[in-house]
Amino acid sequence: MSKEIPYKIYLEESEMPKAWYNLRADMKKKPAPLLNPGTHKPMTAEELSVVFCDELVKQELDNDTKFYEIPQEIRDFYKMYRPSPLVRAYCLEKKLGTPAHIYYKFEGNNTSGSHKLNSAIAQAYYAKKQGLKGVTTETGAGQWGTALSMACSYFDLDCKVFMVKVSYEQKPFRREVMRTYGASVTPSPSETTNVGKKILAEHPGTTGSLGCAISEAVEVAVGTPGYRYVLGSVLNQVLLHQSVIGLETKAALDKYGIKADIVIGCAGGGSNLGGLIAPFMGEKLRGEADYRIIAVEPASCPSLTRGVYAYDFCDTGMVCPLAKMYTLGSDFIPAPNHAGGLRYHGMSSILSELYDQGLMEARSVKQTEVFEAAETFARVEGILPAPESSHAIKAAIDEALKCKETGEEKNIVFGLTGTGYFDMVAYEKFHDGKMDDYIPTDEELAKFRARLPKVD
Ligand SMILES: *Cc1c(COP(=O)(O)O)cnc(C)c1O
Repeated sequence: MSKEIPYKIYLEESEMPKAWYNLRADMKKKPAPLLNPGTHKPMTAEELSVVFCDELVKQELDNDTKFYEIPQEIRDFYKMYRPSPLVRAYCLEKKLGTPAHIYYKFEGNNTSGSHKLNSAIAQAYYAKKQGLKGVTTETGAGQWGTALSMACSYFDLDCKVFMVKVSYEQKPFRREVMRTYGASVTPSPSETTNVGKKILAEHPGTTGSLGCAISEAVEVAVGTPGYRYVLGSVLNQVLLHQSVIGLETKAALDKYGIKADIVIGCAGGGSNLGGLIAPFMGEKLRGEADYRIIAVEPASCPSLTRGVYAYDFCDTGMVCPLAKMYTLGSDFIPAPNHAGGLRYHGMSSILSELYDQGLMEARSVKQTEVFEAAETFARVEGILPAPESSHAIKAAIDEALKCKETGEEKNIVFGLTGTGYFDMVAYEKFHDGKMDDYIPTDEELAKFRARLPKVD
């Protein structure tokens, strides 16, 4: 057991997972189904196939198949940037003076700079296999749009991205990376869709939100022959693809006989967290082992810690199916000063259900604390973390400091989902002391909650 642990634990190419793991198969109480917004009946495969590719619809609705073989073409693409390293944060441990052992799974080692490529390539593959011409999507901070652009260019698919307007303007370099990979990028809300026009008429001068951009992308997908819509988070299928993160993490730990005590991930829509924790949660559900699992979200967009567990729209335009999830309300938009990503109003139905069953914890952190943690990490570990990922860093540091008090040698594993090169405006605000911690009041949250759809 006392094998010396290298700074980076790499798996061999041959040790990469050959199948994704579907956590739902081990859940006794399954996540609630998507509902048709008109009839409030569970969405059928036929209804969903207007919006999504057929194979992805199958994956979305499948609560029972435990493993999905990863097609060879996708594995070949994964090989360009996977297996990703599991890093022992020796320098951070030393800096904190903690007896805890800290490990992070680094998913920023590809051009898109995040874990999103793991699902983008899968979704593009199934679109191509179905003979489609192209796909539409939304992107907030830009990581998903970038990942999807890369995946589409690989399979020679057209890619139309609706980018939240504020990011489109603040992140011109992200935009150009997408265009380099051949995607067309439209700031959202736009005049190119009915829903965009409607939102602009109701909220002139709005800088957009993920919810608006989703509505626009879905409208174009449904209205353009040979196109489907793809989404980079929240959905069951995305968590399935992201299980590759957790499977690799588990395999790397097992290789050195390390048992994780705490597994931590940031939570926006829940895809990296759902993927990272999948095999650990699976063992927990099957009663084989126990882990503390912690979701970390921004205090300015606290869907798990302050939202309600209810059916809600996935988008602002209310064109998408209803999902049962922890939500702040589909028209919730975090304060303009919020710079740290993770701004989606809801949370994956799988994670929502697990959280509701008390199988995982959630906490919210303030963005200035997040950037402090990011800087501490960058200065000792070298990697410049994405603000989203830094939520997990913050919680990992807090847990490691608790171990310092108690003298416990716990194994803390967290997901470092990406790099922050395109987030320097946010870092600048932090450095210049211009970042504050706006936290919505209970009254504000109640206002959005009152507008949740009534589903019985
Ligand atoms: C998109 C993104 C997230 C949050 O999305 P999840 O679906 O919650 O994982 C976290 N980190 C990075 C770097 C991202 O790009």
